[in-house]
Amino acid sequence: MNKSTNQSIKPITTKINKEGNLEIGGCDLTELANKYSTPLYVIDEITLRTICKEYKKAFKEYEKVNMMYASKAFMSTAIAKIINSEGFGFDAVSGGEIYTVYKAGIDMSKVLFNGNNKSYDELELALELGVGRFSVDNFFELALLNEIAKNKNKKVSILLRITPGIECHTHEYIQTGHLDSKFGFDLTQIPEAMELIQEQYTNLIPRGFHAHIGSQIFETKIYEDEVELLIKEMALIKDKFGIIFDEVNIGGGLGVKYTNEEYPPSVFEIGKLIIKTLNKALKKYSLKPPVLYLEPGRSIISTAGVTLYTVGSSKQVPHGTKYWAVDGGMADNPRPSMYQAKYKAQVANKPCDENLQKVTIAGKFCESGDILIKDINLPELEEGDVLCIFNTGAYNYSMASNYNRFQKPAAVLVNNSQSDIIINRETLDDLISHDVIPNRLD
Ligand SMILES: *Cc1c(COP(=O)(O)O)cnc(C)c1O
Repeated sequence: MNKSTNQSIKPITTKINKEGNLEIGGCDLTELANKYSTPLYVIDEITLRTICKEYKKAFKEYEKVNMMYASKAFMSTAIAKIINSEGFGFDAVSGGEIYTVYKAGIDMSKVLFNGNNKSYDELELALELGVGRFSVDNFFELALLNEIAKNKNKKVSILLRITPGIECHTHEYIQTGHLDSKFGFDLTQIPEAMELIQEQYTNLIPRGFHAHIGSQIFETKIYEDEVELLIKEMALIKDKFGIIFDEVNIGGGLGVKYTNEEYPPSVFEIGKLIIKTLNKALKKYSLKPPVLYLEPGRSIISTAGVTLYTVGSSKQVPHGTKYWAVDGGMADNPRPSMYQAKYKAQVANKPCDENLQKVTIAGKFCESGDILIKDINLPELEEGDVLCIFNTGAYNYSMASNYNRFQKPAAVLVNNSQSDIIINRETLDDLISHDVIPNRLD
């Protein structure tokens, strides 16, 4: 089976250049660190476009596919433009993500609005901007969305988010499909939801089911179980309500390779399996092929991104750990402290040195848990070295905070030896721009 880009730890354009430095997208990483300062998110356009194309290719045997990028993995107007140009739509989970897609000038009918507690304002904004699909999560939202749609005299196409009761072996916090998950309708609640839609919520048009079973998934069998279950539920809806669902959304979740020990399946492998399972189940229940929605996030953007840091202070615990601290940490990448996530790294200005030593890379934030990489073998470090942590495209910038009143880093897009800022580094004034001093304190 062909390999795909989510199976690579590094962006596919990563090289060691003539100067002996790491290079991505034809750009020397030490020069990028110099020019834009650090911490710096670097996104490789070729890697990003390649995985998008691989997804399309992997599913081309099934004629009706809507690829929806899960915006929460990394969203900015430039990223939205690139992904849109690869023929993807967007799965958005907030007014902010919807607004970003809108400001990038994208056709809003290609947006699907997800989430377990969408607010009145967010739903209203989504309806005003012409968002194409709403994945309705619960009874409360059915009533709310119907009310807003009715006020605006609109009919809204919806998917019903369901909890399929499928567990995947990933970190507890990123499992979503198990039975007592906070997301979606329990299968036993579907008949009631459908009755309400048919009898009361007449501004809602049910188009299909939506499920998402978790993230950083390595087991292909899970997708098989999920597809079988969703098609079976579609058949039940047809029998019970005479309604033929013409869409099915199986979510995202495909894993990526953060470390040498991880082996995520390729998109071609899951593509083949999902299509095979889908066709078999459709035949079994005599259903016409629905439009298949996929919502990959991590596997689209993770491998394309790296983070550059400058190495600063160090500490040798007597008879213990050797720490090296970098100029970022849990505020630009909360995943190690939140999920015990593991990463690989190289020193951009000496990627080939062989005199490796075991060190721990600490961040600069005021938490003992702010460790980016525990026990990694790196060449002897010095203050000023540029450390490149791989596979930080997903759930880094999008989860970044201003903890310790630190400015969020910039992001640059690299391609063909060119680098362009796509997100400016926050300034000190940005940090206080929302602060207000009441008059009485003056
Ligand atoms: C988070 C999420 C995704 C994307 O998951 P990845 O693991 O990043 O691919 C897709 N769909 C839904 C509903 C999600 O919540």
